[in-house]
Amino acid sequence: MERKKRKVEAENQQFLAEWTDFYCFTLPNHVGALPVCLICQQTVAIIKSSNLKRHYETKHKSFSEKYQLGSNLRKSKIENLYLSYSTSTQIINKAMSEQEKCTETSMRISWIFAKHMKPFTDADIIKECMIEAGNALFDTKNDIMEAIRNIPLSTFSNTRNTELFSKENHSNLIQSLSATDYYALAMDESCDKTDTTQLCIFVRYFDSTSEQFVEEILTILLLLGTTCGEDIYKTVIEYFEIYKLDMKKLISLTTDGAPSMIGNKKGFLYNNVRWLSKGFVLQRFFAILDEIKLFLSSSDQLCAKDYLDSLEIKEHVISIAFLTDIFKHINDLNFKLQGKGKLVCHLLSEIKCFSTKMDLFCEDIENERLHFPNLNTVLDDAENNNDIDLNQFINFIKKLKSEFEDRITGFKNIENVVQILNT
Ligand SMILES: [Zn+2]
Repeated sequence: MERKKRKVEAENQQFLAEWTDFYCFTLPNHVGALPVCLICQQTVAIIKSSNLKRHYETKHKSFSEKYQLGSNLRKSKIENLYLSYSTSTQIINKAMSEQEKCTETSMRISWIFAKHMKPFTDADIIKECMIEAGNALFDTKNDIMEAIRNIPLSTFSNTRNTELFSKENHSNLIQSLSATDYYALAMDESCDKTDTTQLCIFVRYFDSTSEQFVEEILTILLLLGTTCGEDIYKTVIEYFEIYKLDMKKLISLTTDGAPSMIGNKKGFLYNNVRWLSKGFVLQRFFAILDEIKLFLSSSDQLCAKDYLDSLEIKEHVISIAFLTDIFKHINDLNFKLQGKGKLVCHLLSEIKCFSTKMDLFCEDIENERLHFPNLNTVLDDAENNNDIDLNQFINFIKKLKSEFEDRITGFKNIENVVQILNT
């Protein structure tokens, strides 16, 4: 059995040139190719002389009578057959690769549209532009113009391309979320133009591949029926179950404070999802720190003691105090930037003002700490704070400032325009 198999494989390895002459077969030049009959273009499943022979003798009996083996007539006939076969495959290959190129071009253009959030209906204009440019630049190159005309750029193909992208993106995101240890969600509820309520879910997590925090839109869920907290909760849980996302990894949930999310007694507040609002949690945590310690010391859970020990360490409490103060400032800024009727020049001046403020914060930390009341209290309470390294906080603020400036470079581009508006 084993021997027989090896024999077939050995014979399989090579297509003999003489087979073209004997049986009118050729072997296309690509991996995994099967012999093709030059007369009828059929393929045989195995590269084996007996298979080719059987095909030739049963299907093309008259051919061997008309073109005798070894005759010049047969030789030139087979050459002609081979020539027409290879020309037609070349045409097919060329057409295939041109079609592929057109599809790729269409994908690339759809990607640009999606990145700039432009409506697909404008894609036709892009084609018009390319044809105009092509006409002006390569007036005699008909194949260039033909290729441009063949790029699928209709609203339909754009929609399909974008759906492909988003599907690919979403499955990559789900994969990253399965790999990460924790994630945080932010939800925003709004209505679309048909008045259907939508729940937009954003996710923030640490991506181990790129080693940085990533923020992505996770999904938009349609809220059918009522929009009370219970229904929203069910919809979200259902989504998590479909994509096998672990609810235990969810460490925070931010909402826009919509009454439906927090007002209803059956909503998130009363479920095992910890709820944070606009980052005020640090302030609350710090305000009730003594109560938390009391609670931890009365708890008999194993981790409670670890938490308590950690809260007894002076440096930890000082760090929490600092974070509470600095997040308060960030929240205040965030609050100022929100709301309707704000002009871009107001937003820009708020942001610039905050950037300057951060320099002030660095000085303030080493002096009176007027802007860091919680940190000040903790440092005053500490018996000996000569060993406290205030530089770590100054470095934190400096990093924050540079991060901040990176993010607002987009605003800088419009600064000149804003100055004109202001005068
Ligand atoms: Zn044939």
